[in-house]
Amino acid sequence: TESFDEECDYLFKAVLIGDSAVGKSNLLSRFAKNEFCLESKPTIGVEFAYRNIRVGDKLIKAQIWDTAGQERFRAITSSYYRGALGALLVYDITRKSTFESLKKWLKEVREFGSRELVVVLVGNKSDLAQYREVNLEDGRSLAQLEDLSFMETSAKENLNVEEAFLQMITRIYQLSC
Ligand code: GDP
Ligand code: MG
Repeated sequence: TESFDEECDYLFKAVLIGDSAVGKSNLLSRFAKNEFCLESKPTIGVEFAYRNIRVGDKLIKAQIWDTAGQERFRAITSSYYRGALGALLVYDITRKSTFESLKKWLKEVREFGSRELVVVLVGNKSDLAQYREVNLEDGRSLAQLEDLSFMETSAKENLNVEEAFLQMITRIYQLSC
């Protein structure tokens, strides 16, 4: 990873969205600090984290916003989305209800987000395959239908986390630079 202070060519804001406890904060801490916490508390949320990413010969500073648990009260507001170029829309493959909420989240994203917002759909907790309630194919079909990128991840086992963020960041770069 690049150091925080290095000169950047671009600054991108992206947001994490999805139901409570799907693993948003752990995906971010894995991506930004390579940390995972088994008992992360929903009320303790950083506002955002940074990571510098090289795409081609450009250095991009990705500023990723996390909720501080407001999603529990459906209290995410338009200011959270303001200026965002990307979103990771996260559900938990072991809880069908979090997949069923995606409709609501997509509606909100389209209402508050910019028209070109790059959305990557993420089915998290792929390490818990024995408790799976959402098939890989269901995630894939929804993504296809809604024209989103898609990936299953595990913040715990560090599977595909880097790939999910990088896919979003690369796509933003392709669209806006
Ligand atoms: P958030 O509310 O969406 O920010 O979810 P958190 O990141 O706080 O995670 C909620 C719970 O799920 C915590 O107990 C995490 O340890 C756990 N968790 C997050 N990601 C994973 C994962 O990939 N696998 C497993 N097994 N647990 C996870
Ligand atoms: Mg959180």
